[in-house]
Amino acid sequence: MNSSYVGRFAPTPSGYLHFGSLVAALASYLDARAVGGGWLLRMEDLDPPREVPGAQDAILRTLETYGFEWDGELERQSERHAQYAAVTERLLSQGLAYACVCSRKQLEGYAGVYPGFCRNACHAEQNAAIRIRVPELDYHFTDRVQGEFHQHLGREVGDFVIRRRDGLFAYQLAVVLDDAWQGITNVVRGADLLDSTPRQLYLQELLGLPQPRYLHVPLIIQPDGHKLGKSYRSPPLPADQAGPLLLRALRALGQPAPADLRDAAPRQLLEWGIAHWDATRIPRSRTLAEAQLR
Ligand code: GLU
Repeated sequence: MNSSYVGRFAPTPSGYLHFGSLVAALASYLDARAVGGGWLLRMEDLDPPREVPGAQDAILRTLETYGFEWDGELERQSERHAQYAAVTERLLSQGLAYACVCSRKQLEGYAGVYPGFCRNACHAEQNAAIRIRVPELDYHFTDRVQGEFHQHLGREVGDFVIRRRDGLFAYQLAVVLDDAWQGITNVVRGADLLDSTPRQLYLQELLGLPQPRYLHVPLIIQPDGHKLGKSYRSPPLPADQAGPLLLRALRALGQPAPADLRDAAPRQLLEWGIAHWDATRIPRSRTLAEAQLR
C-alpha cells in the first residue's frame, strides 16, 4: 500500500446514506485507491440523541453492497471520549478554551458569530459549553477542487464550541483529533464542510497536528435548492440500484464512465473508476442539482 496517502469516509449515523453521501464516499475512495492509498472508515456517532436506530448497520451494509472495501477496523467516535476530554481539559488549563453559559436566546441576532460574552467570565465548567478562543486572523487553504478558500475566524465564526453544554463533544474537535490519530493525509468530503475547514486548520495549528490536503466535492441538491441530507430525510440508497447509481455518481464527479457500465457489477464500476480517476475533472462548484444528473 502507498502509505503516503491515507483517506477516509466518515459518515454520521443521523440518517442513511443518500446519493450525496455516495458521491462523497466514491470520490474519497477513488482518490485513495487510484494512487494505491489506504481508505479508512470512521463512524461519527458523537450525538446519540440524533442517531437513527439501525443507521450504523444500514450504512455499513450499503457500503458493502456498493462494493466499497475499507482497510482495517471500523473506528467509532463514541469510543474516543477519553481522548476528546483530555484535550479539552488541556485547552482549558492553558486558557485557550473557556466555559460558556450563553443561552440560544442570548445568541439570537448575531448571525452565528459568537459575540464573546463569556470570554472573560470565568464560569464553572460543569453544565457549561466549552468554547475555543479564536484569533482575529484569516485562515485559508487551497482546496484541490474549489481553489482558494478564506475565512476570518474572529469576524466570521467567533469562539466556537468544542464541548456542548450537554457534555457531548463537537464535530470540529473530534474530526481534527481523529484525522490526526488515524494518520489521514487527504480529506475528501462534501462542500458543505468547506466552511468548517478554517476552524479545523486552527485546531490543528493549536494542537500541533499535521494538516491534511483537502478536496471538497459539490453537494448534491434537490430541485428546490435543499441539500440532499439526513435532516431532509433523503431516501436511503436502494440495494438493487448500485450499478446505475454508481454510474450516476461517477458522472456527477465528471468522470466519463461509458453507458455500457450501467449493468456492470458494483466492483467493476469501482475498478473502472480507480483506473480512470481524474480529480481535475470534478466540477468546481459548491453544488450540483440532482435532477441534471439523471
Ligand atoms: N460526519 C460528517 C458528515 O457525515 C463528515 C465529516 C468529514 O468528512 O469531515 O457529514
